[in-house]
Amino acid sequence: MKFNPVIEHLKTYEPGKPIELVVREFGIEPEEIVKLASNENPYGCSPRASKAVRESAHLMYRYPDDTMDELKSALADRFGVEKSNLIIGAGSDQVIELACRAKLYGGAKTLQSEITFAMYQIYAAQCGASVIKSPGVAHDLDAMFALYREHKPEIVFVCAPNNPTGDCLDAVDIENFVDTIDRDTLVVLDGAYQEYAAYKDPRKALDPFALVSKYPHLLYLGTFSKAYGLGGMRIGYGIADESIIKGLYKLRPPFNVTTLSLVAAVEALKDEEFVQMSLKSCFEEMEAYEAFARKFGIEVIKSYTNFITFMLDGVADSGSLCDALLRRGIIVRDLKGYGINAMRITIGKPEENIRFFETMQQLLESGVK
Ligand SMILES: *Cc1c(COP(=O)(O)O)cnc(C)c1O
Repeated sequence: MKFNPVIEHLKTYEPGKPIELVVREFGIEPEEIVKLASNENPYGCSPRASKAVRESAHLMYRYPDDTMDELKSALADRFGVEKSNLIIGAGSDQVIELACRAKLYGGAKTLQSEITFAMYQIYAAQCGASVIKSPGVAHDLDAMFALYREHKPEIVFVCAPNNPTGDCLDAVDIENFVDTIDRDTLVVLDGAYQEYAAYKDPRKALDPFALVSKYPHLLYLGTFSKAYGLGGMRIGYGIADESIIKGLYKLRPPFNVTTLSLVAAVEALKDEEFVQMSLKSCFEEMEAYEAFARKFGIEVIKSYTNFITFMLDGVADSGSLCDALLRRGIIVRDLKGYGINAMRITIGKPEENIRFFETMQQLLESGVK
């Protein structure tokens, strides 16, 4: 079958390995598997959210409320924006996709940091755009600005905190950068881990209301997949000036978010206690990862997220190490595909982290290279 030439050259995205695959391939019991690969909340989601979903299960025969009014009101309250500043997506992924389709075409350009969320490039490539990358492990805003001036891309992506490295730009530097970008260029500011960053360091906290009020070319993204623990429900949001939201709405498929996802998100937002517990545990446990890394001479990137990145140069090959962990039932993310010898580990519950430390120690001491 001949496809649209743009599609011929695309690679299929490889998500983190699901537990089911490790069960099938290595015959490990599901209870024995520790999944620290997809930045999920190890505590699950708010019990209020799962209860509300169970109690709403009888509604699944109906199409969802496509105005998404209840969730939009809750988000509008949370951020101090208007409902007209909001779009809800099947994950913030879908909002990225809509933004790409709204701005890009064959021959268009996007700009991003070299090592950042893979979906920016994938959706851009699907639209036939080419992707300009500023070099380096962290976002280098000066280099990005130089490339911006040279190439005049249609979209600039900034991920704060950044996935898969965990580091985070200061809010003031992001704002100064956004200010220098032409109002015709869309700046997508991805705040998937903002709850974590804001908890750890107020200098990293972004205020979507202030940003969107000031910058008509800014699209802020948030998600329920990380701190709120609803990755399986596929629900996220974009906040922007009404003119951007209107553009995205022209492309949005109707009923793009399910009835039960909407219910879950509304309830999850009401349970701040659950989120606070998750954030606190994450950073307490992260200290154990930092101590482990120090003990084994592994360099870590300071993380403002629910994962930590181990830089493995001089220690081991990330591919061999991730593979050996997988055979022992521990799923982490190899970052070889991003061009760095590193692994990304989602911070789990204490007992999961201990399994990781014990297994890693055995592997490193047995000389896995
Ligand atoms: C997880 C993640 C998202 C979005 O995830 P969804 O599940 O689609 O909401 C977006 N950006 C980054 C950087 C992420 O890590």
